[in-house]
Amino acid sequence: MRDQLMTHSTFIKGTGSTLTALGGIKIHDDFAVAFNGRLQLPFSAGVQRPKLKAPINACDCHHHIYDSRFPISPNAVLHPPDATVADYRMIQKWIGTTRSVVVTPSTYGTDNRCLLDALKQFGKMARGIAVIDTNITDTELKRMNDAGVRGIRFQPVRAGASTSLDMLEPLAKRIFDYGWHLQVHMSPAMIVQNEELLRKLPTQIVFDHMGRIPQPDGVNHPAFRIICNLMNQGRGWVKLSGAYHDSKIGAPSYADTTNVAKAYVQAVPERVVWGTDWPYPSASAGERSFPDVAELFDRLADYVLSEAKLHRILVENPEALYGFPK
Ligand SMILES: [Zn+2]
Repeated sequence: MRDQLMTHSTFIKGTGSTLTALGGIKIHDDFAVAFNGRLQLPFSAGVQRPKLKAPINACDCHHHIYDSRFPISPNAVLHPPDATVADYRMIQKWIGTTRSVVVTPSTYGTDNRCLLDALKQFGKMARGIAVIDTNITDTELKRMNDAGVRGIRFQPVRAGASTSLDMLEPLAKRIFDYGWHLQVHMSPAMIVQNEELLRKLPTQIVFDHMGRIPQPDGVNHPAFRIICNLMNQGRGWVKLSGAYHDSKIGAPSYADTTNVAKAYVQAVPERVVWGTDWPYPSASAGERSFPDVAELFDRLADYVLSEAKLHRILVENPEALYGFPK
């Protein structure tokens, strides 16, 4: 796959220079892209660059790095191929983001060595979300904080998950002093069942993949209200990522999950961030086909409808949540 990659310098740029308005947002020329007749980005379908122009310091708040230099967990269900920092930099160039949040995927269990290595390579342009259990030492927490980790992830929705719900509260208390948050990838049913627990946790709570709100219920599902309430109370955040997970309509519009994303943005725009979820672990492990990262990025134009909100979601909100410099 890597031999087929191309760099920016090999793009053949479209001749037109007209900027088109899309919901008030400036968009690129539609680049004509050719490289020996084809283009292959790492772990993404599609050959067109996004139409949407990313603002300076735009942040992709959810992606993963896989690197076979690091051992995988014996309980791992997904075994995606290597998706390295160098691969991810291609994606950044393609969509125009420069900051990112690297999340330890389930494949590595509670071993965050791959994450810490990636953070070292990205330097000040990245922050990390680790996966830990209650055996973590204070020394290790401090070391991860110094390396740029700003939160921990719970993923009880995924088989083979290495952390369980009963660890949520004790770990939230441990990380509170570092100003870290909890990122949760729960099913909407679990969100509803655990509303009380979520409400009493001391930290901020970040819901992955739009809270996995199912279709056709959409915004009428009770989990949507619970998440919005936490956001309104200044306790919750939501990641506009994984549009393909719960969409029955699918690419390119993802019209049903787009409606959910729009509703979050309308309800509490200062509590919303966006992420690619590259390299789409369920796709690279063969469970689904690859989405097009450019198409997913362009959906933001449907979600936000104004340049100010786009800037808020890609720049200001990530600065607030992950502590990027302003
Ligand atoms: Zn992910």
